[in-house]
Parts: sequence; structure tokens; C-alpha cells
Amino acid sequence: MKNPGFLDACRDAIGTAHVITGDTDKAAYLTDQRQRYTGQALAIVKPADTTEVAAIVKLCNEFRIPIVPQGGNTGLVLGSVPDQSGQAIVLSLKRLNRIRAVDPLNNTITVEAGCILQHIQEAAAAAERLLPLSLAAEGSCTIGGNLSTNAGGTAVLRYGNTRELCLGLEVVTAQGEILHGLRGLRKDNTGYDLRDLYIGAEGTLGIITAAVLKIFPQPQVQLTALAALQTPADALRLLSLAQQRCGATLTGFELMSDLCLQLVAKHFPQLPFPFTERHPQYVLLELSDSEPAPHANTLLEAVIGAALEQEICQDAVLATSTTQSRALWQLRESISSAQAKEGKNIKHDISLPISRIAEFIAVTDALLQQHFPDCRNVTFGHLGDGNLHYNVSPPLGVSEETFIARQAEINRLVHDSVDSMDGSISAEHGLGALKREEILRYKSAVEMALMKTIKRALDPLHLMNPGKVT
Ligand SMILES: Cc1cc2nc3c(=O)[nH]c(=O)nc-3n(C[C@H](O)[C@H](O)[C@H](O)COP(=O)(O)OP(=O)(O)OC[C@H]3O[C@@H](n4cnc5c(N)ncnc54)[C@H](O)[C@@H]3O)c2cc1C
Repeated sequence: MKNPGFLDACRDAIGTAHVITGDTDKAAYLTDQRQRYTGQALAIVKPADTTEVAAIVKLCNEFRIPIVPQGGNTGLVLGSVPDQSGQAIVLSLKRLNRIRAVDPLNNTITVEAGCILQHIQEAAAAAERLLPLSLAAEGSCTIGGNLSTNAGGTAVLRYGNTRELCLGLEVVTAQGEILHGLRGLRKDNTGYDLRDLYIGAEGTLGIITAAVLKIFPQPQVQLTALAALQTPADALRLLSLAQQRCGATLTGFELMSDLCLQLVAKHFPQLPFPFTERHPQYVLLELSDSEPAPHANTLLEAVIGAALEQEICQDAVLATSTTQSRALWQLRESISSAQAKEGKNIKHDISLPISRIAEFIAVTDALLQQHFPDCRNVTFGHLGDGNLHYNVSPPLGVSEETFIARQAEINRLVHDSVDSMDGSISAEHGLGALKREEILRYKSAVEMALMKTIKRALDPLHLMNPGKVT
């Protein structure tokens, strides 16, 4: 072994049982969520608390061992798995899973990085509060991973990304020092915002060990409607109308093309399609309100009524019970699984200025048809915050292998189109190892140089998650 004594020192620091070196036991931590890549690691190291994390990071500095922080390993850009060298440790935060405090008066919850997102939502609900961060991986992703990727999810329109939900952080720096920043303050202008450096850094600057998060009074009611429309441009008109009429009660606005719902119908036939005929586009709207139900009902009926009258939408259904509302959300949440059942596809997690989304879809769909005739666009996403899942499936009858072999060309076409409209090639998932090269084409030399300067300043030995982001 190249670094004799390192693993024994780790065992002394946190206990033998928590330094995993057996190949079978390591395996679960080495392959990414979508099973596209398997790396190698010296060991999986699982400290129990912040002091133990700091001790391990100090040892890594002493022995020059790279560190790959890992939470739930649900990330989609190969950020949480090590490279093939076998030199790094995977530092799993999963044992840091305590809710440290709930403060309903300050509307904050203080949690450790390895807490599963769903458990934090439940702890907030027990205090009659809402943690609005919500995503399909919430049963297995951790808040440390959510913060490190600045995760989005379904409620960004109203509450913002994870960054907006975080008031304070506790971090173990790349040198193994503990940065105590667990402040539950909404105003604190005392110099550079170090917290914001670590959020979204994908584990390349330090290790988040705990956070203070904002929580909110729970809404009394949540109402959902599904509107059927002709075009994405109509969806934008509906968004504008709904924002004007509903203000902050509008908490969800999801676009789905008809092909998305056709795939859901094919692979999940038990989920009822609520219209008698098909339409080119659909929008799922959600209102969350602190008033009794009739208030939100009136608002939603008024929006849909106006949209029908102005011929923005052709048909609509309003959920009149939680069960009906769940059924509508299930259609939206089943799209990814339906597309996976249909076969391999090429995914793009992109964002655009909301005002340019219809133009982007029209232009990029046409370009794709020109270069890859009959490819199938499965376009859906959080339209209310400008985030599209712009996924491309092979034409019917074309083998997945033939199509996937052209992935680089398709990515290039889509990303260039995004860039030409001032968008981002990674809205939610980060860069990880997957988009590290690709981003060089789209970020300016000045931006990249500043990012590298920050990386050198905070992690001069380049031990934190090497090969990711910068
Ligand atoms: C079904 C499904 C749906 C998803 N939906 C969404 C969605 O709607 N929106 C969205 O934004 N993402 C989504 N994701 C992506 C993923 O769930 C998120 O990126 C999530 O925030 C990752 O959390 P995790 O604990 O699994 O982190 P991991 O995958 O373990 O790690 C992600 C990154 O963060 C780093 N990291 C993890 N913990 C720490 C820490 N404590 N300190 C420093 N660095 C750390 C890792 O090194 C890695 O770079 C989805 C994924 C799946 C599988």
C-alpha cells in the first residue's frame, strides 16, 4: 500500500467497524445512481459526527489522500463516486443523521448533513411547519447532498432552491478545521458569504456537516389543476395569468408534452388520463394557501375560467380531493420512470430565461428533427422556474445503441441552443465529472479562472473531490 498507516489511523479515529475496505461492502458506494460508472476507493469511511469528520480530513491532509464526500449517492452527474485510481476515500456522511433543533418561532430547523430529506420534512411537519424542499429522491438523498448540489425540486417557483432555504452552515474545511456558521439569521452582512461558497460546490471545497434551514407555516390547503393547451407559448401565457391572479399562492407550475403522458399511459396504464381527448401540451398547477379551501378554490377557478375564455387552454380538470390531486401529481412524477421503461434516452437538465422557453423548444425541436429525423422529444419540467428536462428518445425502430452513439452530437446541438438563448446547461444537477469538460465551452475564461482561484485558496492540496466541477 502507498500510504502505510493511513487506514489504521482512520480506524483509531472512528472505530474499525466504520472503515470499510472489503470489496463487497464497498461496492454499494462506488457505482453511481444510474449505474453508468463504477470507481475504486481505498476505503469507505463513515464518521459519526463533526469532530470525527475533522479528524479524518486532517489525516487525509497528512497522508495526501483525496476525499470524495457522499450523502445518499442519488446525484446524477457522477459527483459522488470516486475515479478509477483507487487512491481516494469515500467519506460517507450518513451517520451524521441527527435533527439538532427545531425552532418554530424562528422558523428554522438545524440538521446534520446525513439526514435524509424526507426525515427532515417529517420533523418539520411534527412542529406544524413545512420544509418546502421536495424531490423524487427525497426518501434517499441527504440534506448535505441537497446543499452541495443546490438542489431544486418542485417548489422552487415559490420558495427557491436549496441555497435560498439555508441560513447557516457548519463545514469541515479542506484542512480539517471546523467552520462554525450555524446561524439562524435572515440578515447578516458581515463580510464575504462563506456559506454560499460551500453551497453548490459539489464537495470540492469542504465538507458540509450541518445546516440551519428555513421552515414555513404549513399551508392549510393545496389545490391542483391540470390544464390542456396547444403550445408552450400558451403555457407561458397561463403562467403569467396565474402569477397575476394568485401571487405567492402559486407553488407549482409543471409543463408536460403529450408524448410524456403517452409514455406514462403506456407503461403505467393504471394511472387514469383525466381528459376525453389528447392535447399537445399540459400544465399542472398547484396552489398552496393559508386560508380555508374556498379561497384557493375561487382563485383557481378564476384562473382556469379566464384561461378558457381567452383560449389559452382548451380544457382543464380541478382536483376536488387530496386523492385526485395525488393522481394528477403521479402523472407528472411518473414521466422519468416511464421514459426509462421505454428505453435509453439522452437527458438534458437545462434552464432558460422563462420568457425564451417557447422559442427554445420550437427552435431546438426543429434543429433536432433536421439532424436526427424522427427522434422523440420528451420535454417536461418546472416551467415556473425556467427548468426543462429536455430529453431525447430514439426514433421508433432505431436501436438504442445506434442512437446513444450519437449522444455527443445531440448534447452539442442542445447545449449550443441553450447557450445561444442565455440559458444554463445544468439547472439542477450540477457538473460533477459528467459535465466538467462540457462547461468549458460555455463559461467564460474569466469565470473559470475565478472558480479555480477559489478552489486553490480553499483546497490548496487539491484533495476535495478531485476531477469534479473545476
Ligand atoms: C429520482 C431522482 C430524482 C431527482 N430529482 C431531482 C430534482 O428534482 N432536483 C434536483 O436538484 N436534483 C434531483 N435529483 C438529483 C439528486 O437527488 C440531488 O442532486 C440530491 O441533492 C443529491 O443528494 P445526495 O445526498 O444523494 O448526494 P450525493 O449524490 O451523495 O452527492 C452529490 C454531490 O454532493 C457532494 N456531497 C454530498 N454530501 C456532501 C456533504 N455533506 N458535504 C460536501 N459535499 C457533499 C458529493 O461529493 C457530490 O458531488 C434527483 C435524483 C434522482 C435519483
